[in-house]
Amino acid sequence: MYQYSANHSISTLVTHVGEEENPHHTHVTPIYQTSTFNFPDVATGAGIVARTEPGYYYTRLGNPNLEQLAHKIAVLEGLDLLRNRPDADPASLVRGQVFGSGMAAITAVLLSLLKAGDTVIAQEAVYSATFTFLKEIAPSLGIQVVWVRDTRPEGWEAAFNAHPGARLAYAETPANPTMDLVDLKALAELAHHHGAWLAVDNTFASPYCQRPLTLGADIVVHSTTKFLSGHGAVTGGVVVSSHPDYIHDSLYKFVKVMGGIPSPFDAWLSHLGLKTFELRMQRHCENALQVARFLSDHPSVATVHYPGLESDPGYEIARRQMLNFGAMLSFELKGGMDAGIRLMERVRLATLAVSLGNVDTLISHPASMTHAPVSREDRLSQGITDGLVRFSVGIENLPDILADLEQGLQ
Ligand code: PLP
Repeated sequence: MYQYSANHSISTLVTHVGEEENPHHTHVTPIYQTSTFNFPDVATGAGIVARTEPGYYYTRLGNPNLEQLAHKIAVLEGLDLLRNRPDADPASLVRGQVFGSGMAAITAVLLSLLKAGDTVIAQEAVYSATFTFLKEIAPSLGIQVVWVRDTRPEGWEAAFNAHPGARLAYAETPANPTMDLVDLKALAELAHHHGAWLAVDNTFASPYCQRPLTLGADIVVHSTTKFLSGHGAVTGGVVVSSHPDYIHDSLYKFVKVMGGIPSPFDAWLSHLGLKTFELRMQRHCENALQVARFLSDHPSVATVHYPGLESDPGYEIARRQMLNFGAMLSFELKGGMDAGIRLMERVRLATLAVSLGNVDTLISHPASMTHAPVSREDRLSQGITDGLVRFSVGIENLPDILADLEQGLQ
């Protein structure tokens, strides 16, 4: 039977961790597609409900497929913390909880930590639905949101100094779709200095490229819809924290009441995708760096936003805090709106779609697609110019991706 070691690395961990407790010794963990679990007897049932005995009784409150997935992702995000404490029980250092979507995970964090009268200091350039939650829903619940546009440490510091009682800092780095970076170590120190926690959306980087908990963050959230599941077949989310009690108590209580869990089948699909996570990420990142270099030399392209390019404003931060530069990039076409639409219509390999992190390359032009309903003024203030193209670099063979871009940009 697999023996966990803190020295094991990504592919070993995602292949073996959490596979031990399989009562029928099936080679692949079965899908526990059941809403409820039978109590063997009254006393054991009472113990399971009280969480003094191991076991499951109702899928919203716990299911082997959900726990297996949460455990694996927690071990990935907490890899460095676990390595520093090799003899500790992993669950005493880091824990996770899975959700039915990334937004279910993000809103669960914000609503479980903040109540009326509390203040959250949030980066302005975050994923659009997170922005909408913070802009419209959080204030309607009495939660004060202080926006940070200047994402350098000075910008966060000014916000904390103006709101010293803030409970939470919320960051997304690299940010969707501008690729802005936040210095997580500096921000974690600042938040802790002010008695606040730091929550980070790590969806764009994935734990292959960046581990915010190592840098001092308290909470990491993901849309597992993206790189973690990897194949575009399922939606999901996860919250991981270096405060295991937060997951075990407050967040569990929240999930119990709000119920935003994934189905066992969806958790199983994500878990299957996770087994090739490291291999996929290696190829994703190798391809992305070459695509970024190709685009930055291309005459039709004005700017490439990719933290792995030395010319990128985030390069120095990325070198300090990222383990690899990721597979997301955006670039600005010299021809603006028309050039963006033309490229969308000409590509033959890249798939025209929203979302990201799939094995196939995905391309989108926010100004004419996702952000078409947003006023130009609002769009530009979020850094989404007319010619901005977002590119999620897939694992196809690099020459094919480059040839497609070349013919599309002609
Ligand atoms: N966070 C980021 C950075 C995203 O890009 C997305 C979706 O694109 C989400 C969160 C939301 O995830 P989901 O669509 O799984 O709810």
